[in-house]
Amino acid sequence: ASKDCVKVAVRVRPFNKRERDAGSRCIISMTSNNISIQDPRNPQNSRTFTFDFTYWSLSGFSRNKDGLFASVFLDLGQGIHDNALQGYNATLLAYGQTGSGKSYSMVGYGANKGLIPTLCERLFQSIKSMQDSRQCQVFFSMLEIYNEQVVDLLSKTSRSAGGLRVREDQQRGFYVEGLRRVPCDSAAQVEQLMEQGTRTRTTVATHMNANSSRSHMLIVIQLKQIFSKECITKQSNIYLVDLAGSERQRSSGSEADRLKEGTAINLSLTTLGNVISALADMALGKKVVHIPYRDSVLTKLLQSALGGNSRTVMIATLSAADICYEESLSTLRYAERWVEFLPKKSHLVITVY
Ligand code: ADP
Ligand code: MG
Repeated sequence: ASKDCVKVAVRVRPFNKRERDAGSRCIISMTSNNISIQDPRNPQNSRTFTFDFTYWSLSGFSRNKDGLFASVFLDLGQGIHDNALQGYNATLLAYGQTGSGKSYSMVGYGANKGLIPTLCERLFQSIKSMQDSRQCQVFFSMLEIYNEQVVDLLSKTSRSAGGLRVREDQQRGFYVEGLRRVPCDSAAQVEQLMEQGTRTRTTVATHMNANSSRSHMLIVIQLKQIFSKECITKQSNIYLVDLAGSERQRSSGSEADRLKEGTAINLSLTTLGNVISALADMALGKKVVHIPYRDSVLTKLLQSALGGNSRTVMIATLSAADICYEESLSTLRYAERWVEFLPKKSHLVITVY
């Protein structure tokens, strides 16, 4: 039997300057894997959620457990690394309002490396240590989905109107036609490509007069392992997703643009939630007629790496400040959907036959 595993983590970031200047109050508290949020206007009104992992990065508040990155990686990244080497696909997603710590967790800033660069470091270390038994190839791609359009972040020529085409193939499933795949042999090379991609993302956003927090960023790492003695190859894809800000749309720009943008972004986020719910139902033995992968570009591209033999990890990020109450509550509710149908075991391991 193959193992299917969904894990959900919540990470609370420290107050930012704006929150400190506003004299914000902390409305989040944690005990082991439970996280409670209090309505600042009605303090008796609080809700408690339970997740697989919770990380606290505030200090001086009700709980002083630091969300040490080493443990974040061990909990969330290590399993993806192990799974990939075994030949399975995996998806790691960050969800939360803009400014809540998605990119900090996924990519990192400066010396604080996030999950993606750390995962790559470990992956190349493992590849090196196992070179007697297998030969490995790693390919790196980076794209963004904006208004349901795909932009290749590693190509300067792909900014054509309408974006790249998403096609479907019997064997490969959904894929992006003409997406650049760069062969890599070190973590440093991957980091360089990520920097290039991030720069392109900003340029594209400026060019389209858009805000990059409105787009989803997706990195695909393909690992191909060739075992020549046994004459087998294994291929696994790792999908790393920095989702668009989950906040309700209140951007500038024309009303029509805003609506179009808002609908398209929510379409991917909503569809993602629906896909997860359907997969969880299926794992519980409920009858599921249809998994709505086709309803958004994001879920089309993630189809081969959600469910089945894949490992899925979601990290929901939020601020503990009272002024973020509505958004933080909505993030916790969205994340809860990923766990609510799953058996309440410590690691939420579901098995699919
Ligand atoms: P997002 O990608 O969700 O819009 P960012 O990851 O850019 O948000 O985070 C916003 C700011 O908060 C950044 O300056 C970042 O360094 C800081 N930050 C976010 N999460 C943490 C954390 N866990 N610990 C310390 N600083 C954090
Ligand atoms: Mg970001």
